[in-house]
Amino acid sequence: MIAQPPKNDNASFQLYPFRFRRLDGQELLVNEVGEFLFARAGTAGDVLRRCVPNDSALYRNLVAKQFIREDHGRNLDDVLATKYRTKKAFLGQGVGLHILVLTLRCDHACRYCQVSSKPLATPDCDMSLEDIERCIAFMMRTSGSTLTLEVQGGEPLAAPDRLRFLIEKAQCAATAAGKDMAVVVCTTLSMVDRGMLEFFRDRNVSVSTSLDGPQQLHDHCRIRASGGSYEAVVRGLGLAREILGMERISALTTVSSYSLRHGRQIVDEFVQQGFRTIFLRQMSRLGRAAAPQGLERYSIEAFMEFYFDALEYILSLNRSDTELAEAYAAILLRKILTPFPAGYVNLQSPAGPGTGVVVYHYNGDIYSQDEGRMLGELGDQSFRLGSVREDDPERMLQAPELVAMLRDSCSESLPGCADCAYLPFCGCDPVFNYVQQGRVAGSRPTNDWCRFNMALFDYLFRLIRGGDRQTQRILMAWARRVSASEVQQAGVGPC
Ligand code: SF4
Ligand code: SF4
Repeated sequence: MIAQPPKNDNASFQLYPFRFRRLDGQELLVNEVGEFLFARAGTAGDVLRRCVPNDSALYRNLVAKQFIREDHGRNLDDVLATKYRTKKAFLGQGVGLHILVLTLRCDHACRYCQVSSKPLATPDCDMSLEDIERCIAFMMRTSGSTLTLEVQGGEPLAAPDRLRFLIEKAQCAATAAGKDMAVVVCTTLSMVDRGMLEFFRDRNVSVSTSLDGPQQLHDHCRIRASGGSYEAVVRGLGLAREILGMERISALTTVSSYSLRHGRQIVDEFVQQGFRTIFLRQMSRLGRAAAPQGLERYSIEAFMEFYFDALEYILSLNRSDTELAEAYAAILLRKILTPFPAGYVNLQSPAGPGTGVVVYHYNGDIYSQDEGRMLGELGDQSFRLGSVREDDPERMLQAPELVAMLRDSCSESLPGCADCAYLPFCGCDPVFNYVQQGRVAGSRPTNDWCRFNMALFDYLFRLIRGGDRQTQRILMAWARRVSASEVQQAGVGPC
């Protein structure tokens, strides 16, 4: 709910914009920059009516957190504006995340593959050297001083010469342009060898991989043509860690219907494999995942039951000194507990497509977000911006269609979001809305993405309010630990 100030000429303080939510008999008040406080039910109404004694702790708290401004106090509007600019610092910095699909070819044929991968021998599925160079030129023109190049597939290691060419050329161009560029390669690690990993080490390249759990769970969904996906991943992981070290490798889990009853086993596997972050990601509704072989589509309720049980378990492990953060919860915590944005393009407003992320498909087509190119493979080009062969970057990123999409996915103007207390921490996923509800704006009351986020915000705020000191320390550690590059590695990853 958003609090609307009544006209009151006798007020001794002014209101800053804030929203509130009832939670377990209390009220959670959140201002425009995400500062919050818990108070007894009815507090929002008292504030609006100016019925807060000015010698009360609540009054002092409201002033300190900039819910209200005393008429005769210091005018700190500029401080609030600075906080707002900090929260929205991702705007005006150019495109930060450039996802390049080097090839569609892959040695796997996972049941839920959302990128419509092709067998290794398929011709004409690799990006040409000329298009690679065009993409790099595009990146340099559209990015700010820092950017991440994320190389995806298919399996990028199926085209090793092109991968080396891309990384060398891109790093050279970034240095010449004075840009700070991180490179992440999304790979199953099943085709990796020592030579490539030494190249990654020398070029400061990070790796994002997929692990769906213990061997039987992983191999059920991740089908490798020559068999033994789990063994290949674990072998590649060992070699990668020997050469790159532990910190440059992250992994995510795709949660299939087959995984739903095994959340704790999946978590245990990540602990056993020495990861410090796990990303529990819903199975997509795109590509083969729209009709997965031998798997069922599942409801958001089933996923939430899985997710919250796994999250409870992860927290209990942390309380026993096992360091493991769930990446999505950590992203939300970073937004709630720190003044900074999280750098996660799927959870920001205005939405990330075309402003925070651009996707270069293997054939030179450019899309506004990763799921958009997946949709494109299915014949729906709604999120195609143009081609790296033909279009001018400035024109493409200012195209009326893109501007209209951003306008329609700006949370501040979306019914439901505009008066939601969680708006300062949330965002909008245009492709998700489009696929589930037929339009990029979506509709919150029946939106699974909103239902999950709302439940997770409620869960985290309950912990923030009622958790013991150890739990508070764990939450803050997660919020602080998740860096922008870690988020991008964990959040996008392979497929
Ligand atoms: S999900 Fe990834 S690894 Fe699996 S088939 Fe698709 S592209 Fe290959
Ligand atoms: S998507 Fe849902 S949780 Fe997020 S701001 Fe909108 S209404 Fe709130």
